[in-house]
Amino acid sequence: MNAPTNVDLFSGAIARLDKAFQYADIDAEALERLKHPKQILQVSVPVRMDDGSLKIFTGYRVRHDDTRGPTKGGLRYSPNVDISEVKALAFWMTFKCAVMNIPYGGAKGGICVNPKELSRLELERLSRGFIEQIADFIGPETDIPAPDMYTNAMIMGWMMDEYSKIHRRHTPGVITGKPIPLGGSQGREEATGRGAYYCIKELEKKRDWVPKKTRVAVQGFGNAGQSIARLLHADGYQIVAVSDSRGGIYKPEGFDIPSLIQIKNESRRLQAVYCTGSVCEAVPSKSITNEQLLELDVDVLIPAALEDVITVSNANQIKAPVIVEVANGPTTGEADEILNERGKLVVPDILANAGGVTVSYFEWVQNQQGFYWSLEEVQQRLHAMMTQEFNHVYDWMIEKRIDMRTAAYAVALSRIGAAIASLGTAQYFSDNDS
Ligand code: GLU
Repeated sequence: MNAPTNVDLFSGAIARLDKAFQYADIDAEALERLKHPKQILQVSVPVRMDDGSLKIFTGYRVRHDDTRGPTKGGLRYSPNVDISEVKALAFWMTFKCAVMNIPYGGAKGGICVNPKELSRLELERLSRGFIEQIADFIGPETDIPAPDMYTNAMIMGWMMDEYSKIHRRHTPGVITGKPIPLGGSQGREEATGRGAYYCIKELEKKRDWVPKKTRVAVQGFGNAGQSIARLLHADGYQIVAVSDSRGGIYKPEGFDIPSLIQIKNESRRLQAVYCTGSVCEAVPSKSITNEQLLELDVDVLIPAALEDVITVSNANQIKAPVIVEVANGPTTGEADEILNERGKLVVPDILANAGGVTVSYFEWVQNQQGFYWSLEEVQQRLHAMMTQEFNHVYDWMIEKRIDMRTAAYAVALSRIGAAIASLGTAQYFSDNDS
């Protein structure tokens, strides 16, 4: 059942902590705590299929750490979901929330399923069935799911509705990324891409980039990949390559992104729920593989699809001087070392893709207070937080002469460490005189 690539994802994820530890203000006991997820739940979800048969799906929810607040993180539907992947993703959420200074811990969940093989009704039954199984584990003050890979606003709406039925009270704050008429936030849909865009706008100032002369390749043309490509293109950036799971396209003079998005989205077969079209069929251009896209001679490379795509086998071939990680965990630890030695700047996932959870936090705040913000308010607040935390991490990187990922982990560790230490450290409890 476990995909071989995921087996060591969690060990790989926690290995990054030891490097950051020496630059962070946190004691060793607190660090040790963060290497162990707080709670792990595995469930079996029976679903009556359209043909009358019964199928059992395996689902997971992992709460990694809740010292700084309720746990937060997405739910993914993928045939590769397994416990090591979900643990790693939950761990990253703890650090993502801390690096953004959002009052949440981290969690993640998922169901081992290929959603494209299910009808809409089967998908609804699976989503509601999963909530029935985890209804006592989640809640607006304990653990708040959200969309992730191959889940979307409608699925979040079904889940919120199911949770509200079980608890017999309307509970929009139990889940974020909902449709706007069901208590979703303005700006949530594009938030991950927009957050990464704000990071790039800060780099533009630091590196004196001229957008028209700056070439960008985006791997992954789902929600986040499309949003960042659209925003950068609107500023004049040259988006020279994009790809989806079936392959990529390359055009040295740059694509017209709005029409590419339109073509891709019109070729959906299950329009309202899943995009199954391929960018490969969209416009006349040179076809490239996903692997070739990563090695293009561009100024900015944006992996916005899967984990572990930049590895020891291709890190030496990456030409882009700047990599902005919009996917979760696209670079392995060993590849990271190679990229750092080669002087590449990697804006790490826990910062670059944190726009999504930041607007999820805004959504939850709006749900809890029952008062809703305009799109402009959401964008202004996201801009302010992304810019502040990007520069905070960037300054640590410069000051301590470390790579940006280590700086992001050190900032996050110090914040989590401060929260853990506020409840007492080994030194405090062994000092009986005070
Ligand atoms: N799944 C997204 C992530 O990995 C969003 C999580 C959330 O909004 O809670 O950051």
